[in-house]
Amino acid sequence: MRFSFLTLFPGLVEGYFSDSILGRAKEEGKIAVDFLNPRDFSLSRHKKVDDYQAGGGAGLLMGPQPLDDALAYFLKKTPHAHVVFPVPAGKPFTQKDAKRLAKKSHVVFVCGRYEGIDERIVEEYADELFSIGDYVLTGGELASMVMCDAISRNVEAVLGNDASLDEESFEAGLLEAPSFTKPNEFKNKCVPSEFLKGNHAKIAGLKKVMACAKTQFYRPDLFVNQKLTCQEKDHR
Ligand code: SAM
Repeated sequence: MRFSFLTLFPGLVEGYFSDSILGRAKEEGKIAVDFLNPRDFSLSRHKKVDDYQAGGGAGLLMGPQPLDDALAYFLKKTPHAHVVFPVPAGKPFTQKDAKRLAKKSHVVFVCGRYEGIDERIVEEYADELFSIGDYVLTGGELASMVMCDAISRNVEAVLGNDASLDEESFEAGLLEAPSFTKPNEFKNKCVPSEFLKGNHAKIAGLKKVMACAKTQFYRPDLFVNQKLTCQEKDHR
């Protein structure tokens, strides 16, 4: 799967793909990452990409010309690319979106800076608008990296063990059950004894109950649509 970042600051993003899981996925050709800098398309003498806001207002906006030329150039070569704009006004990005977008062959993130992007560019090119939360970042790079990371781990074979995706948080509307590793006892706190007995059906049942309880406690909003409640389960 290919990810492209339209950004004034490719260096901010590049390093993220040099290490760890995504670094390895890139090296092994499971994902590809490239960059396009709208500044390179600016027709102004000083490669200007921003301007004052029409009608006034604090701060500058990314102007339409460099972005329009960059996107037109890019999409001419890759017409099937799915164009995502990270913006505070977008719909909240969720795990469902990460899984859905992992099936695309090419996602392009258009990273805003300053006070954002001239709205006409968004209207012209956006396939989807996403927000990563109700707060304002200085630029779209971080938001795009968050989405790219979440999408990438759902691309086949990017994680060492694809099965680890199945029990993760937000699958089936639940948070993942609490997890433990060795030692079995740490600072007088024990791993649930059922986890140590090797009965996988029972462990799965217990994990489901714990996932329900954890979700009810931390994210009751997610739990609203769950048919199962902790009381309905026999592992208590
Ligand atoms: N003036 C804009 C507003 O109030 O909606 C905020 C612009 S912000 C300083 C600059 C860029 O950061 C945006 O164009 C967008 O690309 C990105 N950004 C900021 N907050 C974001 C969020 N919560 N989710 C996704 N992208 C965000």
